[in-house]
Parts: sequence; structure tokens; C-alpha cells
Amino acid sequence: MAPLPQPSTPTVTAIYAAYEAGQGDGYRDHLGASLIGGSCERATWYSWRWATRARHTGRLLRLFDTGNLAEARFVADLRRIGVTVMDVDPATGRQWTLRDSSGHFGGSMDAVGIGFPEAPKAWHVCEFKTHSAKSFAALAKDGVEKSKPLHWAQMQAYMHLAGIERAFYLACNKDTDELYQERIRYDAEAALRILAKAERIIASPSPPARISADPSWFECRFCPHAEACHGDAVPERHCRSCLHATPAADGAWTCERQRMALGIREQRQGCAAHLFIPALIHGEQIDAGEDWVSYRMRDGGEWRDGVQEASA
Ligand code: SF4
Ligand code: SF4
Repeated sequence: MAPLPQPSTPTVTAIYAAYEAGQGDGYRDHLGASLIGGSCERATWYSWRWATRARHTGRLLRLFDTGNLAEARFVADLRRIGVTVMDVDPATGRQWTLRDSSGHFGGSMDAVGIGFPEAPKAWHVCEFKTHSAKSFAALAKDGVEKSKPLHWAQMQAYMHLAGIERAFYLACNKDTDELYQERIRYDAEAALRILAKAERIIASPSPPARISADPSWFECRFCPHAEACHGDAVPERHCRSCLHATPAADGAWTCERQRMALGIREQRQGCAAHLFIPALIHGEQIDAGEDWVSYRMRDGGEWRDGVQEASA
């Protein structure tokens, strides 16, 4: 067989491959505030239960990095005009980390700041974002709440958890470097709804209802969990996909089967007693016993999860 042709851009290919090699395992330990404003609760639950590994191309990972690198410049721009910006928590010397009372929901604020020309005496949660020209135009036309509801919900959650009543959203058009600013007021009612939604997702033992039963619905077409939700994909075996795992207080997890606390490493490994949460299997549960569950699958066949029957 003739050898495969070499890629025509080996250096770029190697750079992308290096990003891909460093992208982690694709599972997030906590329920992130950056996801909570999503329109489909089921999709957020799938992320929380590690139904699908987040996997991105090197090009996309580099794009995310562009957004991260821009944060230092936003901070420098604000400091240049006299705003006091704290981009790390002085108590820890690290990124600001916020969690709700369960310890499972939260995120990392970009910064907090005081001394903005419009409101010099008020502390603000700072959120920095870079946008494509199209996204920036929508932002400038409609504002954050309408054009970027995920960012708006993220800031409401941060304001609530940090006890700060204002947020400052500073965004940049990646094509032109034009800046957009918006001050966001804390909306207590909306924040409580967001916290309640997070609580509901964390406590739910099975996936919430679909936003649409039609896989061609536009949100489903772009959903990273579409194959697990509408298709035949089954999550990997780990504690988050196991019916024995339960979120506990202070961000911990416990296993009802093994009667033990589950550290983050153990959750990734799972164990031989793993049983899938039945709603993750694309079939109808027909029987169950100690350490096994059997299903009638869509193709009419039977499938048994867990300990197999002893052969005669
Ligand atoms: S595929 Fe559609 S219904 Fe299913 S989780 Fe994603 S957005 Fe929700
Ligand atoms: S039975 Fe095993 S896989 Fe399931 S939650 Fe317990 S330790 Fe994890």
C-alpha cells in the first residue's frame, strides 16, 4: 500500500496536537455557573453527570486560550484608568472561587473591581469576554441579558455568591478591538431562580425532560450531548453515571453500594459494581436484582447491566 501523504502544514498540525494533548479528561468536577443559564436543563444535567467527555480541536482550544490571555489586558486597561482590580483572591493568592451552600455549584470570577468612573464607590464582579464581530454586534444592539443569557446568568450567580450587587461586563470585538461595557444590577429573584435550578440539577437522580423531542431542533443540533440524548451513545462507566452515587454535603459524593465517600479520583475510576442510571440506557428496564439490571433495547434484544447470569 502506498504511504499516506505527509500533512502539508506539519508545524501547525503539531501546535494543534499539543493543545489537544493538554486538554484534560473533559469532565468538570463541579456544576459550573457558566453553564447554568443554558436553555436545556437536561443538557446541564448531562454535563454534571459526565455523560459525554468535552473534546475540542486544537484550533478551538487555542481560541479559548485567546480569551483567557485577553483577561490580563482587560485588567491592565482598567488599572490604566485608575480602577482598582483584584484578579486574585488575597486570602488564597489564587483565582476567586465561589461555591453555593452545597459545595457543588459555582465558578471562578475573573476579578472584582472598584473605582469605575460611573460608580466609583461600588464593588463590581468583573466579567471579561472576547467576541466574534457577529456576536459583538448582537451584544452592542441588545445588551448582555438578551444576547448573552449564559453570561448574564453567570454574573447573577457570582453576584449572589460573592455578596456584591453590581457586575461590570467588559467585552472586546476580536476583529477591531472595539470595547463594549455594561453594568449589570443584581437581580435577587433571578439569582434565587438560578440557584434553585442548580440545586434541582444536582439533586436529580435522572435526566430532566428534553427541551425538544426532535433531534433536528436547533439547540439539539449544537448540543454536545445529542448522541447520549437522542442517539444511541451510552456514557462511560464512572461513578457519575452510576445509580449508586449521590452528591453529599460540602461538594462531596458518596456511594450507597460501597458505603464510602468518593474522592474525585475514585469517581473517575468507578468500580466493578457499577450500574448505569437506567435513564442513560436507550431501552426499557425489564428486570433487576442485586447488582444487575436488564433492559429491552430499541432493537428488541435484551441487555443485562452488571453481574451476568451464571452459565448452566
Ligand atoms: S440534545 Fe436537545 S434535548 Fe437533549 S440534552 Fe441536548 S439540547 Fe437538551
Ligand atoms: S458502585 Fe462503584 S461505580 Fe457505582 S458509585 Fe459506587 S464506587 Fe462508584
